[in-house]
Amino acid sequence: MNLWTETNPLQVAIVGSGPSGFYAAEALLRRKCAIRVDMFDRLPTPFGLVRGGVAPDHPKIKQVCLVYDKIARSSGFAFFGNVEIGATLTVDELRAAYHVVIFACGASADRRLGIPGEDLPGSHTATEFVGWYNGHPDYRDRVFDFSCDTAVVIGQGNVAADVARILATRVDDLRKTDIAAHALETLAERRIRDIFVIGRRGPAQAKFTPVELAELGRIRHCAAVVEPSDLELNTESATEISHPRGEENKKNVGILHSFARTVPSPGDLRLRFRFLETPIRIDGKHRVQSLIVGKNSLTGPLFEQVAVTGPERRELPCGLVFRSVGYRGVALPGLRFDEGGGIIPNEKGRCLDGSRRLPGLYVTGWIKRGPTGLIGNNRADSVETVDSIFEDVPKIVPVAKPGAAGLRDALGARGARIVSYAEWQMIDARIRQPS
Ligand code: NAP
Repeated sequence: MNLWTETNPLQVAIVGSGPSGFYAAEALLRRKCAIRVDMFDRLPTPFGLVRGGVAPDHPKIKQVCLVYDKIARSSGFAFFGNVEIGATLTVDELRAAYHVVIFACGASADRRLGIPGEDLPGSHTATEFVGWYNGHPDYRDRVFDFSCDTAVVIGQGNVAADVARILATRVDDLRKTDIAAHALETLAERRIRDIFVIGRRGPAQAKFTPVELAELGRIRHCAAVVEPSDLELNTESATEISHPRGEENKKNVGILHSFARTVPSPGDLRLRFRFLETPIRIDGKHRVQSLIVGKNSLTGPLFEQVAVTGPERRELPCGLVFRSVGYRGVALPGLRFDEGGGIIPNEKGRCLDGSRRLPGLYVTGWIKRGPTGLIGNNRADSVETVDSIFEDVPKIVPVAKPGAAGLRDALGARGARIVSYAEWQMIDARIRQPS
């Protein structure tokens, strides 16, 4: 029996307005149930990593915002920008005001390498650089010095591909994108001639999707190159790429072989792929001067091979290092956190405290499963969480909850300057107006 009515709707709060939050809202609003969905974000702007993470030269990926915009205009939905859960409001305050709270707050921190020199000037996380060129308020004031001739990108996932591509793309081409103006101005001064993209495992284990890797071979006035000897595979890796599960990896290896045949034209910037190298330390007196890597071999079962670092060391002189070794979730005060996995422990989206379920609390997206997968993968993830919610809904006592109205006093007392969806749209329209 559906006990929820227009005057006593199921009140749901979603924390985070990235893809997983919007797909959760979509799945909730599709249910035949009187429901109100309030979405909170610590930033005044919605859309999370689609806005602050997707590269400016990938406008098609950003078009998914049109889907989220439609969801945001649905009746029963409201956006509360500029409200940080864990700072402006506590988790307990949300629990008091809503029947259900879904954490969709992503993975906003970076994994660290834990090596000497990691924090030297000139060593940056990919997140800082990506946030900076996308005009993210947390990162827009970061300072990058592109006057060196060699940069190194550590990691071989799609974020590393974005970083390498933006570093390698000529300013004339970046100008056609919606890259932040301050980034364009600074990148115009770039002197970089060589960009190394290094992976701790082999070419068959690189985590780029083939589309993103192939794109690195099509940058104007840039030659993607790799030493043929770096593409020799051990027996296990050769088996992996001949297996249906290794189809994407096989495509990557094929693309890398095409890079091995590249003959750079004079004046081309070079994007150099290297494998089986683990960062050991970053050296430099006052700022980055070189990266020391250890040579690796692979060991372990098929599709689970790991890198083992041997005694051989190599020095890679460079002036800039970008660490692109994956994101990491951040703990929320008042909720259990799995430090090892960087996630909120859960069972199909139901938050857990040890083996105990925490009634009314759910997770979705990267804070649920870790920072993997493309934007679209979050839809199925959020549907699973919403299915769990509706399995549990019959157990919720349908006592009326105030939703956002119950938070007004606390928000007022803390001087919160809430930005609604309509207000954000007005700001966005103003920014987009040609000056
Ligand atoms: P990722 O795909 O997990 O790649 C991380 C890379 O860092 C891997 O090469 C990993 O190597 C390496 N790494 C991790 N720890 C390391 C260490 N201690 N030392 C050296 N290397 C280390 O992560 P991501 O690139 O941050 O991407 C996150 C997710 O967003 C992915 O699912 C990605 O596809 C997605 N994304 C998609 C797009 C797009 O579609 N255009 C753009 C950006 C991001 P191992 O494999 O050995 O662990």
